[in-house]
Amino acid sequence: MCFRSRSICLSTVDHGAVAITLRSLTVTPGTYTSQPIRYCAPPRHAPCPTTIGPRCPSAHLQFKRFVILRRRTMSILKIHAREIFDSRGNPTVEVDLYTNKALKIFYFYLPSLCALVFTPFSSFLSGVKRAIKYVNEFLAPALCNQSVSVVEQEKIDKLMLDMDGTENKSKFGANAILGVSLAVCKAGAAEKGVPLYRHIADLAGNPEVILPVPAFNVINGGSHAGNKLAMQEFMILPVGATSFKEAMRIGAEVYHNLKNVIKEKYGKDATNVGDEGGFAPNILENKEALELLKNAIAKAGYTEQVVIGMDVAASEFYRDGKYDLDFKSPADPKRYITSDQLGAIYKGFEDNYPVVVSIEDPFDQDDWAAWSKFTGNTSIQVVGDDLTVTNPKRIAKAVAEKACNCLLLKVNQIGSVTESLQACKLAQSNGWGVMVSHRSGETEDTFIADLVVGLCTGQIKTGAPCRSERLAKYNQLLRIEEELGDKARFAGKKFRNPLN
Ligand SMILES: [Mg+2]
Repeated sequence: MCFRSRSICLSTVDHGAVAITLRSLTVTPGTYTSQPIRYCAPPRHAPCPTTIGPRCPSAHLQFKRFVILRRRTMSILKIHAREIFDSRGNPTVEVDLYTNKALKIFYFYLPSLCALVFTPFSSFLSGVKRAIKYVNEFLAPALCNQSVSVVEQEKIDKLMLDMDGTENKSKFGANAILGVSLAVCKAGAAEKGVPLYRHIADLAGNPEVILPVPAFNVINGGSHAGNKLAMQEFMILPVGATSFKEAMRIGAEVYHNLKNVIKEKYGKDATNVGDEGGFAPNILENKEALELLKNAIAKAGYTEQVVIGMDVAASEFYRDGKYDLDFKSPADPKRYITSDQLGAIYKGFEDNYPVVVSIEDPFDQDDWAAWSKFTGNTSIQVVGDDLTVTNPKRIAKAVAEKACNCLLLKVNQIGSVTESLQACKLAQSNGWGVMVSHRSGETEDTFIADLVVGLCTGQIKTGAPCRSERLAKYNQLLRIEEELGDKARFAGKKFRNPLN
């Protein structure tokens, strides 16, 4: 008896059942009888066994080949996007991806939330709805019909980029492409049966993996806080720890000491936390924030182990070619300072607080001359975030102009896993450091924890040791370190260049 199983289609069966059926056919090819056996139809363009007879060796072989082909080439069975909410109560996108291993992969996409304060809720909602529509109506059916495995990350990302066809992903939106790209990456790891960080290391060509130094953002200012502080983030980096676990403990102890220091000086009201879990005392002087950190580090007893990093986010207070360090007060051009004066303030930080080892976005994103001048005269890490926006063209320009020496890597700025890996490699190959980063509006997803380990960048910033969406990443790093056991390697003092 011969049969053809076009009557069953992927969209109308339970995918777990499909996987089980395929497995049973693979392991028991001799059990075919005159009873019809259900199996999934192959892709339209793939070879389809139109006739299979019971106990016919050639038919069995043909059928087995089909099953193997199907399992190798059609590993994406279903993709589905839906709306969920992030840590700020704003809509965002979650993508489920099903493979023929009956796995369900989650990815929580984070829209660009830095501008959220100024963006109406309805705009975000429409952006999220658009992303969901494009995933469910265009990307999902296209990828489920492709002869491609989830381990082929570059191929899948290229397919999506080709389908979009625009330079800045304006057809589908980076939201839609990135959500699927990250879900594919997780599914690729599951398909290979390896941890996600190992799969990412393989994609990046890294034979080893490295645990990063956490950069805890413990004092918040800038546009992320309601205080008068101009600079956006003041971070502590426990570079003197011997392991990630110890770095977490040191970070948490300094954080709690900082809470006491702030409470003693400004009262309990000043210890409320901002979007990223850091404190936001109502201070104006940036030097005062550094003093608070210095005291807290000393009180915790970790003066030797902890250094300080800052994210200035200077584009936020760039006014008419100058900088306004009191930008939350009514505008007054008389108090604006030049880039040279701002650079002198940073040099003062370096001289008076030798523990300041990293400054992100010290100048406006288009004030290239100021960037180059400052980077040429300092030995500390100068990080490009707004300057480079994880964009290869801007990274190449920054390399050419020696504007900075470290890339802040945000996967949602570039829009796919493959492009993120390329941006990271571009920065590393030019001798830069790379810091993997979260966003201010986050979810409980932990992808970036595996990403930083697989890419061996040696440093990650994902908020204070407070608020579950921040700790989800740090806790995942603790799990990874435990899993690696004796093979775990912590970046420590080599956080700027852990591979050398
Ligand atoms: Mg930044």
